[in-house]
Amino acid sequence: MDEKKALLKALPKVDDCIGLLKNDPECIAPSRIIKSVIQGSIEEERERILRGESSTIRTTAEWLGIFKKNVARKLSPHFKRVINGTGVVIHTNLGRSVLSQATMEKLVQAGGYYSNLEFDLETGKRGSRYSLVEDLICELTGAEAALVVNNNAAAVLLALDTLAKDREVIVSRGQLVEIGGSFRIPDVMAKSGAHLVEVGATNRTHLFDYERAITPDTAMLLRVHTSNFRIIGFTSEVSPEEMVALARANDLITMEDLGSGSLIDFSQFGFPKEPTVYEIVRAGVDVVTFSGDKLLGGPQAGIIIGKNEVIARIKKNPLNRALRIDKFTLASLESVLREYFDIEEALKNIPTLAMLTIAGADLKKRAQRIARQLKKRISQNCGVKIVATVSRVGGGALPEFNIDSWAIDLQPVTMKLSTFEQRLRKLVIPIVGRIENERFLLDVRTIQDREIGELTSLIGDFFSQGESGD
Ligand SMILES: *Cc1c(COP(=O)(O)O)cnc(C)c1O
Repeated sequence: MDEKKALLKALPKVDDCIGLLKNDPECIAPSRIIKSVIQGSIEEERERILRGESSTIRTTAEWLGIFKKNVARKLSPHFKRVINGTGVVIHTNLGRSVLSQATMEKLVQAGGYYSNLEFDLETGKRGSRYSLVEDLICELTGAEAALVVNNNAAAVLLALDTLAKDREVIVSRGQLVEIGGSFRIPDVMAKSGAHLVEVGATNRTHLFDYERAITPDTAMLLRVHTSNFRIIGFTSEVSPEEMVALARANDLITMEDLGSGSLIDFSQFGFPKEPTVYEIVRAGVDVVTFSGDKLLGGPQAGIIIGKNEVIARIKKNPLNRALRIDKFTLASLESVLREYFDIEEALKNIPTLAMLTIAGADLKKRAQRIARQLKKRISQNCGVKIVATVSRVGGGALPEFNIDSWAIDLQPVTMKLSTFEQRLRKLVIPIVGRIENERFLLDVRTIQDREIGELTSLIGDFFSQGESGD
C-alpha cells in the first residue's frame, strides 16, 4: 500500500513536463497536443500503479521518451498505407483493389480542380454525373443501361427496393449467404421491404423449386453469387438461362448479384471458370449488380446494369440520390473502365489484374531480389529464404482456389514469431504478413515492385535499430 502511495507521489507534474517537452527541439507539436499527451501518459501510469502493474519510479529521461513517442503517435494519421504481404489480392481489410498510376492522376485532378461533374459542356446546362460512365459500362458489358452507386451492397438494396418492395423474391437456399462485413442477403432483403421466399435444399435447387414457389405476389427470381463460400459434392443450381426462361413465362424480373463480377474470363489463366458479366447479360438477366473494387480492379462502387426499362425504374428511386457516388469514384471508375478497352494493357496496368495473372517465374525473381537485399542487411539477426506458397484471390472471388506463388520466409534469431509479426505491423509503413506452420511469410504477389526498396529498408532498419520499441 505504502509502495503504491510512494509511486503515485513520484508521478511528475503536468506543468513541469510541458516545460521539459517545449524545450525539446525534436518535439514540435501544438501546445494543446503536448498538454493532452502528457496528461494522458501520466494518467495511464497512474492507472497502472493502481492496478499494481508498475513498481518502479520512471526517470525524467524515460518520461521524455514516453511523451515523445506518444506525441509522434498522436500526430501520425490513423489511416495509412500498408505493405500487403498476405498474398490475398482483393483483401477487403487492406482496401481491396489498388489503382494504377494513370487512374491515381485522375483522382488528384478530381480533387484539386473544378470539373464537369454535373455540367454538360455541350449545352452549358446541368448534366448527369452518371452519364459520364454509363455508356462505357454498357459498351464493356453488352448491357442496355447502367447505373453506379456507392457499393454493391447499395446496388442490391436499391434494386430490391425498386423492383420488389412488398412483393416476393425467390432465392435458392444454397445462395442465402453472408459476405464479410455483415452483408447478408436475407437482411438486405428485409431492409428493402421485399419478402424472401427460400426454395430448394442447401446443396441442390432445381427449376421446379422456383416454379412451385411462384405466386401472384412474386416479383423476382434472384440468383446470388456465393462468394467466399462454396458448396462442394452433390450440388446443383439453376442456370441464368433457365431462370430467365421461367421468369419470362411468368412475367417476372430476374436479378443476379454477381459480387465480384469480372469483365475478363480468368479461366484462360488457369482459374476455375466463373461467368463473366458479359455472359450473364447475354443470358438475358434483367438486372445484374457487381462491385467496382473486386475483380474489376477499380474504386469502391456498385455497378447496376440491365434492361432499359428496369434500370430506368431504379434511376427514379429517391434512394438512388442517397447512395450516389462522389467525384473521386466517378473519376477513378471511368479511368479503370477505359483501361479495359485494350485487354492486354488492362492486364498489365490494372494492379488487381496484374497481381492475379503475373507469371510464376516473375514472382520467383521478385522474391529472390527481395531476399538478396534483405540478406545483405539482416542475416545476423534473421534467417531469410524464399519458399513456394499459395496466394488467394480474395474479395469473395474464386474462394478456396490456390494460386501458386513465392514468399520470403523470415525467421528472427531471438524474437518470437508472433512478436515479430506484431512489430512489423507497427512500423512507420506497416508490413502485414502471415504466420503459417511456424513460419513468418511475406507473399510477394501482393508486394508491388516500387515497394521493394521500402520493404527492405524498413526491415533492415528494424533489425539495425536494435529491435527496440514496443
Ligand atoms: C462483395 C459482395 C457484396 C457486397 O459488395 P460491396 O461492394 O462490398 O458492397 C454483395 N454480394 C456479393 C455476392 C458479394 O460478393
